[in-house]
Amino acid sequence: MNRVLLTFSLLLLNFIQSAAQYPGWQQAVDYTMNITVDTSAHQYTGFMKVVLRNNSPEALEKAYFHLFFNAFQPGSMMDVRSRTISDPDRRVGSRIFELPEEEWGWIKVASLSVNGKPVAFEHDGTLLDVTLNSTIKVGKKATFEMEWTAQVPRQIRRSGWMNKEGVEYSMTQWYPKLCEYDHDGWHTEPYIGREYHGIWGDYDVTINLPIGYEVGGTGELIGSSNGAREAGTWRFMAEDVIDFAWAADPDYVHTATTPSDVTLHFYHQPNAEYDENWDALPEYTAKAMAFLNDLIGPYPYPQYSVIQGGDGGMEYPMATLITGHRSLRSLVGVTVHEMAHSWFQAVLATNESLYEYMDEGMTSYATELCMRELFVGPNSDDPPHQGAFSSYISQALSGNEEPLITHADHYQTNRAYGVSAYSKGETLLAQLASVMGAELRDKGLKDYFRTWKFKHPGPNDFKRSMEKVCGFDLDWYFQYFVHTTHQIDYAIDRVAEGVETTTIECSRVGAMPMPQNITVTYTDGTEKAFVAPLVMMRGHRPLADGEALLPDWPWTHPTYTFEVPTGSGIYSVELDKARQTADVDRSNNRVEFDPEINRLFERNR
Ligand SMILES: [Zn+2]
Repeated sequence: MNRVLLTFSLLLLNFIQSAAQYPGWQQAVDYTMNITVDTSAHQYTGFMKVVLRNNSPEALEKAYFHLFFNAFQPGSMMDVRSRTISDPDRRVGSRIFELPEEEWGWIKVASLSVNGKPVAFEHDGTLLDVTLNSTIKVGKKATFEMEWTAQVPRQIRRSGWMNKEGVEYSMTQWYPKLCEYDHDGWHTEPYIGREYHGIWGDYDVTINLPIGYEVGGTGELIGSSNGAREAGTWRFMAEDVIDFAWAADPDYVHTATTPSDVTLHFYHQPNAEYDENWDALPEYTAKAMAFLNDLIGPYPYPQYSVIQGGDGGMEYPMATLITGHRSLRSLVGVTVHEMAHSWFQAVLATNESLYEYMDEGMTSYATELCMRELFVGPNSDDPPHQGAFSSYISQALSGNEEPLITHADHYQTNRAYGVSAYSKGETLLAQLASVMGAELRDKGLKDYFRTWKFKHPGPNDFKRSMEKVCGFDLDWYFQYFVHTTHQIDYAIDRVAEGVETTTIECSRVGAMPMPQNITVTYTDGTEKAFVAPLVMMRGHRPLADGEALLPDWPWTHPTYTFEVPTGSGIYSVELDKARQTADVDRSNNRVEFDPEINRLFERNR
């Protein structure tokens, strides 16, 4: 085959493969909404047109909408869960149960039609169950037109009116939102206060408020802030987002800056104690966005808004609501964390109910690196991610750890969820430096983002991105660390120094196998590094200059013995000296020559 023909054939093959690539399709939905808020009753009326394009390979016989506000009523699943779990979120506790009726949240759908014809629907807690008159066929559009009324709950968890810092409206998960139907089927989780999942689409949202409010949210404001404030009409448009959030308060100070091709907006309430921190925030946010673009890939939206509101920090597409009465470090920390979600929750948008660690864990990983860049500098002696390691290790050793693969809503304790999703999730990504090398891990993260943005990747997609850059098998790593609570603990059992060679015996104490990075320090101060891969990897990470490769360690073998040159004499031997793994007991990782105190070291020369 000549070269031109060969190139053409390869391109064609490539095209066919990518067209057939899993998952291959995404639903698309566009919302046009018009909302009128009655601020005296904390209620609003809404009308919307929702156009769903069924890109799935199946005809849809049903449709569902989330009605998140219905969670804020006594007896709701969220209320009962919060009153019966052993470690309730202190922001919720029994607050929903104690709400007077005028402070409940609710959404009541008054009318719904599909393609111009009324359809039957039923309110079922935080879901609207829609019976279609006819199926939505493959590749066809359905236009839903809905009228509804809603009462905004007194702020308790994320959404509501009057948060503890006096922000009037934190409007998140606030409208009837079409449930996602993806390659895993329908996602109709009842809302109990945790993660969610959504369909990408374009939003055109008009919000009518009394004159004098300032509004920030997802998307770009059409027209000027001043014009909107005077007219009391705010129109925002956003493309390719999985959700739309907004917040409103008459006292907001709004500033904007455009340090790159992304405009950053900031909304906070004036406060003598915290104004200085909010004044400093834009510069940190700009640096953080540049850092995250570099770490993961380019942020694809035209704007990002940091808005005081909510009850801590929660990510939404193109915006976050955060509490604002914080030290500078805490204010920057929460902003960086929520903004880092833009890559994982908004653009990759892994189903965070099923795979919370792929959102919170990866976000925590990026946050840690970004905060080090902003506040510590790259030359710190302390390796990164030690906070996540110790949080995960203490939970693992407590015996209350639950596997990472647990559904976010279904952990037995909030603590087990938090440690797994955030700390163990961060650890999962961090430890890959030990397995495949930091450079390939970093490249793998970028490849993963580039390949899977706007496609709802799952665990296997991330694993495959990493395998493709390192060229060896990582099944075992994800299998153990995600699906089990087995722990990493390796030990040095014996160092027997001879005249020419020294024999080193190691053992796997924990149930989880890991390749070993071993550092031998000689009495003349020189160091030599060794790598012992696992048989089942069918490969090993790139070796550093001077690093030596040892034979593979079969996972079935609890012990492993190898020899190194004695050289000037052995001073110490250490496993994972760079502290790249969450080894649950580091006391057995190092043996040093001191026959008085260290029985494990034999000097026979
Ligand atoms: Zn988060």
